[in-house]
Amino acid sequence: MMDIAILGNPNTGKTSLFNQLTHSYEYVGNWSGVTVEKKVGKLRAATGNLIDLPGLYTLSPLTKDEKVASTFLLEGKFDGMINIIDSSQLERNLHLTVQLLEYGKPMMIGLNMMDVAKRNGLAIHIHQLSQQLGVPIKPMIARKGKGCEQLDAEKMKAPSFHLQYDDIIEEAIQQCESQMPAKMKHTRWIALQYLEGNEVVQQYLQQYVSLTWLEAWMKDTEKNVKIKHNIALNKLIYRTRETYIEELLKENMITSLLKHKASSETIDRVVTNRILGIPIFLFVMYVMFQFTFDWLGVPISDLVDGLISGPVTSGVEAGLQWIGANAFFQSLFIDGIIAGVGGVLVFVPQIFILFLFISFIEDSGYMARVAMVMDRLLEKFGLNGKAFIPMIIGFGCNVPGIMASRSMEQEQERHLTTMLTPFMSCSARLAVYSLFTAIFFTSHQALIVLSLYVMGIVVALIVAKILSITKYKNEKSLFVIELPPYRIPYAKTLYRSTWEKGKGFVRKAGTIILAGTIVIWLLSYVGPQGFHVPIQESFMAYVGKSIAPLLSPLGFDTWQAGAALITGFLAKEMVVSTLYVLYLVPNTEALHVVIGQQYTALQSYSFMVFFLLYVPCLATVATLKNELPNTRSMLFSIALSFAIAYVLALCVYQIGRLLGF
Ligand code: GDP
Ligand code: MG
Repeated sequence: MMDIAILGNPNTGKTSLFNQLTHSYEYVGNWSGVTVEKKVGKLRAATGNLIDLPGLYTLSPLTKDEKVASTFLLEGKFDGMINIIDSSQLERNLHLTVQLLEYGKPMMIGLNMMDVAKRNGLAIHIHQLSQQLGVPIKPMIARKGKGCEQLDAEKMKAPSFHLQYDDIIEEAIQQCESQMPAKMKHTRWIALQYLEGNEVVQQYLQQYVSLTWLEAWMKDTEKNVKIKHNIALNKLIYRTRETYIEELLKENMITSLLKHKASSETIDRVVTNRILGIPIFLFVMYVMFQFTFDWLGVPISDLVDGLISGPVTSGVEAGLQWIGANAFFQSLFIDGIIAGVGGVLVFVPQIFILFLFISFIEDSGYMARVAMVMDRLLEKFGLNGKAFIPMIIGFGCNVPGIMASRSMEQEQERHLTTMLTPFMSCSARLAVYSLFTAIFFTSHQALIVLSLYVMGIVVALIVAKILSITKYKNEKSLFVIELPPYRIPYAKTLYRSTWEKGKGFVRKAGTIILAGTIVIWLLSYVGPQGFHVPIQESFMAYVGKSIAPLLSPLGFDTWQAGAALITGFLAKEMVVSTLYVLYLVPNTEALHVVIGQQYTALQSYSFMVFFLLYVPCLATVATLKNELPNTRSMLFSIALSFAIAYVLALCVYQIGRLLGF
């Protein structure tokens, strides 16, 4: 058994390698902060596990996800490391490499992005570099799987690496080592990391060595360095490594004078333009929705719908008759399961198209630009531009969106972003918009849906502003984001990442939506008077009626709407299933007719506004509970959401009515 860990700077292709070598598929994206947790996968070629860790520039952790790596090294339950380096950014990447070499476990270096390096006119003396660092180096192109084949642990070896620091530091290391218990490993590394200010290592060592001793030792060393060099201790350590790396690269790298980056810069001048940036982003979203609806999504969805309400329904009907199923089962399958689950499945093509676009934005490098463009706006609302990344991911699904906020440096900002992400309209909500806009806004579907997405963002911004002057004040971090080079997304990566996002939706249809639909159907079949009651006298109708008065100021006081909103808490697309079941219609066309008669366009818009915000779904609530500091914050976030939804829908409906819509 061999357990191997992958470490490296953010956005260097660690997860791409991980996916190549294991049977799993994890999230890959072209910005830093994609992987926020430790991921473990079984190795394909050998026995053992591969562990993917969040990226980091240095072992001293700043963010929650960066702590993962240091903690992992200290626990040390693994046999070897692969350090992934972006060969087109060697100089910066090697800082971490030096620290890993100092750590001293068997290791090898994966020199990734060789394609990019080559394009930039970079040549590296790999053999020579490998000898100087004392570990094997393997060139690779992780996303194509080139060079990833035999990264086995046998070839790894413990480095005989030694970087000599200033005498003061060397002496301090020795002093510290003599205080450590005899069984302790990686002593030099631990001492160095302690001096550098690595909090995780500091806490660790304080369990074994007396705190007073450590503090005195640290103070002494800091003072001596200050006197001799007039700089801070951690700076001196950093400089030493920097000089070493510069020398190393001078000897081992050839750069030709190829002009690169020029195209990236030209694109950036346009898309991150002060005035054009936001309109361009809105335009990109508009195009995305045009594809999701008019241009591609709706025609395909119509085909699926025809299939389900035609051949599938009649096939099942015939089958049920053939086995002689009674009226109860006939109704359960036709009016319940096929109507409810089928109603959701119809939207699968549209949702996949949306996910394809989000994956494209993620993998091309545009994501980081959007964060940068948005920073200027977000700053005015007390947020950091990085907060926009969780929000965009939240457009797909709020749960991974919330997880993505883990890469934010400051706790307060992270909590704030976590609370805002559920306001982002996710793809499950798209199913509901799709249904209503197809009935009431046939010619402007994309525009109406865009308005709801933008509304989610605007609400999030206003809430951010209010919370940042009341609850989350006095902590504001500087916006630093890496602009990764643009990369043309690789078809396979794009396909996989779209599928990864979308498959959950399909799976949900087969599990929670299926189960939910059966329950809803049962509750609409049974009433206080017994079985097979008229639907207006079913339990579902009673439940719906009990909350309908609350909703009547918002414009939709039918019991069906009330009931659908309750089930929508389980999963947002459940609203669609519920409507199919409760309106007892044979097909989508009939549903459109019934809903078209019962509501007006204004009422349907008010419903969508309310539905956008009223409460996060169950899975999101669970994630909120984990990621927020306490249950109170979670409840606060839900209550706030509900209040905003109510007030906004009320305004939309009442003002809309005054205006004569
Ligand atoms: P991580 O943050 O280190 O886990 O990196 P990811 O695996 O998420 O990859 C970051 C980005 O680099 C993605 O857009 C990948 O498709 C891309 N990428 C990964 N390996 C290569 C490679 O060898 N060449 C090129 N050109 N791009 C790569
Ligand atoms: Mg990753």
